[in-house]
Amino acid sequence: MTDFLSTGTLPDDYRDLALTVRDFAQKVVAPVSAKHDEDHSFPYQVVAGMAEMGLFGLPFPEEYGGMGGDYFALCLALEELGKVDQSVAITLEAGVSLGAMPIFRFGNDKQKREWLPQLTSGRALAGFGLTEPGAGSDAGGTRTTAVLDGDDWIINGNKQFITNSGTDITRLVTVTAVTGQSGGKKEISTILVPTDTPGFTAEPAYNKVGWNASDTHPLTFVDVRVPQENLLGERGRGYANFLRILDEGRIAIAALAVGAAQGCVDESVRYAKEREAFGQPIARNQAIAYKIARMEARAHAARTAYYDAAALMLSGKPFKKQASIAKLVGSEAAMDNARDATQIFGGYGFMNEYAVARHYRDSKILEVGEGTTEVQLMLIGRELGL
Ligand SMILES: Cc1cc2nc3c(=O)[nH]c(=O)nc-3n(C[C@H](O)[C@H](O)[C@H](O)COP(=O)(O)OP(=O)(O)OC[C@H]3O[C@@H](n4cnc5c(N)ncnc54)[C@H](O)[C@@H]3O)c2cc1C
Repeated sequence: MTDFLSTGTLPDDYRDLALTVRDFAQKVVAPVSAKHDEDHSFPYQVVAGMAEMGLFGLPFPEEYGGMGGDYFALCLALEELGKVDQSVAITLEAGVSLGAMPIFRFGNDKQKREWLPQLTSGRALAGFGLTEPGAGSDAGGTRTTAVLDGDDWIINGNKQFITNSGTDITRLVTVTAVTGQSGGKKEISTILVPTDTPGFTAEPAYNKVGWNASDTHPLTFVDVRVPQENLLGERGRGYANFLRILDEGRIAIAALAVGAAQGCVDESVRYAKEREAFGQPIARNQAIAYKIARMEARAHAARTAYYDAAALMLSGKPFKKQASIAKLVGSEAAMDNARDATQIFGGYGFMNEYAVARHYRDSKILEVGEGTTEVQLMLIGRELGL
């Protein structure tokens, strides 16, 4: 079924899901978006609503409390939410693809049974702690250390820009840490750190340009002691495992970005028909209509890119290059469409209460998070043997 996913004809179950999330986004999310953005407040009520709909469990099997769907279903939900509110969409994206997915992919049975039901139900959130002050694109530059002391790991270091790491319902952060040296290289492993462990601190939230209702903190680890059994996956495979998670995550971010790009089109079409200048709706000017037509083309092309990457992934074929392409063109479509939409809105586009103004501020991070534009180009080049 997923070998060929068309933007024109989705199988019924996918289409029904997308329409249900669209309805939720318009009726529940949109009315509170501007307020949470202005207050920089985490939308707990909206998150509870998404949890009730089962969105945090979408791509996980029912035995772990999931909905038994797949990654493409998650992407469709993210696209619909991203049209209206990127903060809400990234909260879901990070909660599922960065929070729960590493445990599903690499956890042992005990870890899955302990953590997944909490995370897939949306009762709890987990963060993904890779980036550090000196290690972003070059994530292998990790300096955080984990040293075995008897049966425990002792973790020391800092992480930065970690999504969902300091909410009232955050229970866990999965971190990469240097656990030794092997063949002259750092041995990097992944360790589960419950957020109530002494020595763990989520520092005050960042004052960001956008994604203001999403939760982002620097984290400090001072002699944080967790049991040896909190190692996630094989010792020394932490970096490789996180890279696999990021490959998938790029498809999800691309879907979110397509939502943002499409949200800008939808707002612009509506506004251009309503707003009059020189005695006629501004849509009558080809300069405006062509701008919106190009925005629609960008969103559509970016959508086909993420559908293609998701279809490859679900059919078990290599998808690394296509995921990077989807992330690249999706984030650029969002940024370009946000710039054009704010222009179409004129002065109103510069007012924070308008959705297009939020997209203008929110979209920039899409070109940076989960691998910058330059990193995507590096990865695509590598796949071409360059
Ligand atoms: C709101 C927000 C949420 C985030 N959430 C998370 C999270 O949940 N978990 C997590 O681990 N991280 C998270 N991040 C971190 C994010 O993934 C990094 O910011 C990103 O990977 C870039 O790393 P950096 O900021 O250190 O930039 P750097 O790596 O320092 O890059 C700076 C610039 O140099 C360019 N550059 C670097 N190397 C090269 C090269 N070899 N060739 C060409 N150009 C290059 C980059 O493209 C960029 O333009 C988040 C960031 C933000 C802002």
